[in-house]
Amino acid sequence: MNNPHWLNKTRAIILFTLMLLTAFLIISWSSYEVARQSLNDEIEENTLPLTSDNVYSEIQQDLLKPIFISSLMAHDTFVRDWVLVDSERDPAAMIRYLSEIDRRFDTIFSFFISDKTRRYYDPKRVLETVSEQAEKDRWYFQIKATADDKPYVIDARPDPEDRTHLDIFVNHKVMDYQGNFIGITGIGLSVQKVKYLIEKYERRYNRTIYFVDKTGSVILHGAAFKRPLQIRLQPGLGPLATSILTVPGGSYQYDYQGRKVLLNTRLIPEFDWYLMVEQSEHPLERVLFMTLLKNLGIGAGVSALFLLLLWLTIGGYQRRLESMATTDKLTGIMNRQSFEYRFQRLRGQKMAENGPLSMAIIDIDHFKQINDRYGHGAGDRVIQHIARLIQNALRRSDFVCRWGGDEFLVLLGGCNGDDALRRMETLARDIAQSEVITERAVIKATVSCGVAAYRQMENLDALIDRADIALYQAKQAGRNQAEKRD
Ligand code: GH3
Ligand code: MG
Repeated sequence: MNNPHWLNKTRAIILFTLMLLTAFLIISWSSYEVARQSLNDEIEENTLPLTSDNVYSEIQQDLLKPIFISSLMAHDTFVRDWVLVDSERDPAAMIRYLSEIDRRFDTIFSFFISDKTRRYYDPKRVLETVSEQAEKDRWYFQIKATADDKPYVIDARPDPEDRTHLDIFVNHKVMDYQGNFIGITGIGLSVQKVKYLIEKYERRYNRTIYFVDKTGSVILHGAAFKRPLQIRLQPGLGPLATSILTVPGGSYQYDYQGRKVLLNTRLIPEFDWYLMVEQSEHPLERVLFMTLLKNLGIGAGVSALFLLLLWLTIGGYQRRLESMATTDKLTGIMNRQSFEYRFQRLRGQKMAENGPLSMAIIDIDHFKQINDRYGHGAGDRVIQHIARLIQNALRRSDFVCRWGGDEFLVLLGGCNGDDALRRMETLARDIAQSEVITERAVIKATVSCGVAAYRQMENLDALIDRADIALYQAKQAGRNQAEKRD
C-alpha cells in the first residue's frame, strides 16, 4: 500500500464520519427541539392553567369562607338589633355570639366594633374603644370611609408579635335596616392552612405557587420561596410586573438564573390578589435531554461501527485489487507493471548511491518443446517451479518479476556485473539439476541468462536491452548458461 492511496482513503473516511455525525447531530437536535417546544407549549397552554384552576378552586374555598362568615355576621339581625334596639346593654350577649362564631366556623378570632360607642368586642371580652387619634385604630376609620359598594375589606397583616406569622382579617361593614353604617364586624384567620395547601400543590405538581396583591407584594407563599417579597424586584420577573398586574390573568415566560420559567397568573377578584403558578424545569425536560444524549451516543457508536466496517471493507478490497494488479497469477511473483513501478521508485531514490546494481533476464530454454511434449499444464508447472527456484536464490535487496511467457527479470541489489554473473551461473546450474515431476513424466529444464550492470541514471529499457543482448549471446553459445554485457 502506498501513501497517496492511504491518505485518500483516510480523507474519504474522515469526510464520511463528519457527514454521518452531522446528520445524526441535526436529526437528534431537531427532534429534541421539537419535543421540547411541544412540551413547553403543553405546559404553557394546558398544564399550568389546569394547575392554576385546581389550586384556585381548592384554595378559594379556604379564602372565601371567611368572606362568607363575615357577611353572615354583618347581616345577622341579632347583631343589628343588639346595637339598634338593645343599645349594647348586654355585652355578654355579644361576647357569647362571637365565641359561638369561632366555635362553629373554626375561625381564630372574630370581632365587632360598634360605631356608636366605638367599643371593640371580641369572643372573650370588651377591649378598649377605638380612637381616631390612635395609629393602630386607623384601619377602622379607613374602612368606614370606603364607598358603600365595597361591603368588606380584606387586610393581610403580619402578627405584630411574630412577623413571619401572617393573619388575614376580613372586615365587613354592618349597616342598619336603612343602610346607615353602624359598625364593623369580621374575623381573622390564620393563613397556615393556606400555606400548607400551597406547599402540598408545589410538591405534587413540582411548581412554585404564591399570591401577590395588586401592588406586586408577595402575600402568601410556600416554605421554599426564597425570592424578594415584591415581584418588581425579582430578576427576570420584574420587567413583566406591570403587565401582569394590569390584566386579570395570562401566560408569561421569563429567564431566571439561566432557566426558562413559565408563569400562569389569575386574579382572585374577592381579594384582589393574583394567584401565580410557575414551572421552571419540567421533569420530562430532563428525560428529553437524556434521550438526546442517548441518541447522540448511539449515533456516534453506529457511525464508529459503520466506519470501522467501511475501513475494513475498503481496506480488504483495496488489498485484493492491489495484489491483483501487482502480482502474476501463475507464479505469485511481481508482474511487469509492478516491477517497472518499483524500478522507477528505486531510480528516483538514486539507487546507484546505495552501491552497484545489476539486471538479469532469465529465459527458459526450448520452452515451446516442453509445452509441445508434455502439454501446456506441465509447461505451467515448469514456469512455477523455476519461479520458485529464482525466488529462493534472491537476497533481501533483490527483486524479481515475470516479464513475459517464459522470461523473468531479476534486479540484483548490491551486485556489480561480475557478482551478478556468478550468481546467475549458480542459479542456472541449480535449475538444470532440478526436475519437475508430473504424473506422466520427469521434466528437466534449463535456462539461459543475460546480465547487465546498471549505469548511473540509465532507464529501464536501456538496461533491459543490454541484458537482452547478453541473453541472446547465451542462447547462441548453446543455452543453459549465463552471459554478461557491459
Ligand atoms: P528459446 O530457447 O529460444 O527461448 O526457445 P523457446 O521455445 O523457449 O522460445 P520462446 O522463448 O520464444 O518461447 C516461449 C514460449 O512460451 C511461447 C509460448 O507458447 C510459451 N508460453 C508463454 N506463456 C506461457 C504460459 O503461461 N504457459 C505455458 N505453458 N507456456 C507459455
Ligand atoms: Mg524460451
